[in-house]
Amino acid sequence: MGKYEVVVGLEIHCQMNTKTKMFCACSNDSFNAQPNSNVCPICMGFPGQLPYPNQEAIIKGARAGLILNCKINKVSSFDRKNYYYPDSPKGYQITQNYKAITDKGYVEIQLDNGEQKQIGIHHMHLEEDAGKLTHTKQGSLVDFNRCGTPLMEIVTEPDIRSIEEASKLGREIQRLMRYCGSSNADMEKGMMRFDVNVSLRLHGEQKYGTKVEVKNLNSFQSMERALTYEIQRQSQMLDNQEIIDQETRGFDVDSGETLSQRSKESAFDYRYFPEPDLPPIEISEETLEQLKKEVPEAPLQKRIRYQNQYQLAIDEVNVLSEKLEIANFFESAIQKSNDPKKSAAIITTYIVKFANENELEFDKLKVNGEMIGDLVQLINDNTISFNIAKNKIINKMLETGKTAQSIIEEDGLKQVTDHSAIETWCKAAIEANPKAVEDVKGGNNKAIGALVGFVMKESKGQANPGLINKTLVELLK
Ligand code: ADP
Ligand code: ZN
Ligand code: MG
Repeated sequence: MGKYEVVVGLEIHCQMNTKTKMFCACSNDSFNAQPNSNVCPICMGFPGQLPYPNQEAIIKGARAGLILNCKINKVSSFDRKNYYYPDSPKGYQITQNYKAITDKGYVEIQLDNGEQKQIGIHHMHLEEDAGKLTHTKQGSLVDFNRCGTPLMEIVTEPDIRSIEEASKLGREIQRLMRYCGSSNADMEKGMMRFDVNVSLRLHGEQKYGTKVEVKNLNSFQSMERALTYEIQRQSQMLDNQEIIDQETRGFDVDSGETLSQRSKESAFDYRYFPEPDLPPIEISEETLEQLKKEVPEAPLQKRIRYQNQYQLAIDEVNVLSEKLEIANFFESAIQKSNDPKKSAAIITTYIVKFANENELEFDKLKVNGEMIGDLVQLINDNTISFNIAKNKIINKMLETGKTAQSIIEEDGLKQVTDHSAIETWCKAAIEANPKAVEDVKGGNNKAIGALVGFVMKESKGQANPGLINKTLVELLK
């Protein structure tokens, strides 16, 4: 424990995955679009144009608020935040300053030592994104395609006390945004960005220290590096009795340093006022009740439940809960198979591998959870061995969408449990491996493995391993 206690609060921007932009009919997907091709008079702020709110964004905002355990405000409204910047053609941003879509909430995280902690959410509000500037040697380029993209800004309370907590919280919120379906939250695509507010105080001190905000961190690694640097920098200043200035800083990915951008004295005065062109947003009691019913179990709750109820390993639990599609797949597999361990093993190794290699989400696979549940049952009732499932069935299912049952029939993969067939193979194994036989008879039980292997090979993996073992032991008595 260092001399100072770390105090951190996060402001997280998440782009919503709506069809259209926040206040116009432009597509919200500019991924492959030419710069400045996906714009219209509304998102370019031409005089006399009237914005209108995107209902899908409001509903998805409420969904996100609910999964963050926030109180949803039935009436919220939009305001203008006035400032001039080259990426913002309107000269202001439409945001929610006075009455946001949500009030307070919280997110639960689990730390490496197993301890659980609640981090308060101050509120979440909706706003529109600005354009994108690219700085080159010749000058700066601007692309307005991103103007008007719906954003959620999640503001946490200063409840975070370590880099680990900040990082765990960031990742949990990323999962939550994906779980509720409101954002794809891909950091590589700039869909999720963090501002971190950091201050230090002596342990036991009641009052918070002066905070510094480091803006626009676009990876978890950058967030962790920026915090590490900032904590170090502020500790040194406090040790030297220097006064920490309330300021905004940027992070330089190359040097790993934070650099001052503006101090409190030069802070903008945004001259907020209610957006005159947009009416207040109302969410009906009925809609809210419906949305509450649809909130999925949170990933952390799933992780804890999978561990306690099914005794799964932590690595498996993490993979299964990472995305709702995977969790749903797993849950429908175990409904069929009643075997969480084997279902989890198959899903976390073979299915995840296939999905990753083919860049497919789980709900886009040709195979569903029930089909994997059926496969597990066929292993458990000895129709096939695990090896056959692994080597000859799973990939074929994934490639063709056929059921395990039909692949077994078509390819003749049924496990051989016929005693006389197995006995014939075992006798051949004994004949062909005198050395192993000698070793087994001499007391080396492990040597029987060579004989089992021989039979497996002869039977193309279809002989039941339990029966092989039993028969060999009998013949070698
Ligand atoms: P501002 O008025 O500068 O916008 P806010 O009180 O609205 O500050 O808080 C903005 C963010 O800064 C929130 O995430 C909050 O949790 C965090 N924060 C506030 N005070 C501190 C502090 N002393 N140290 C660290 N973070 C803080
Ligand atoms: Zn537009
Ligand atoms: Mg504030």
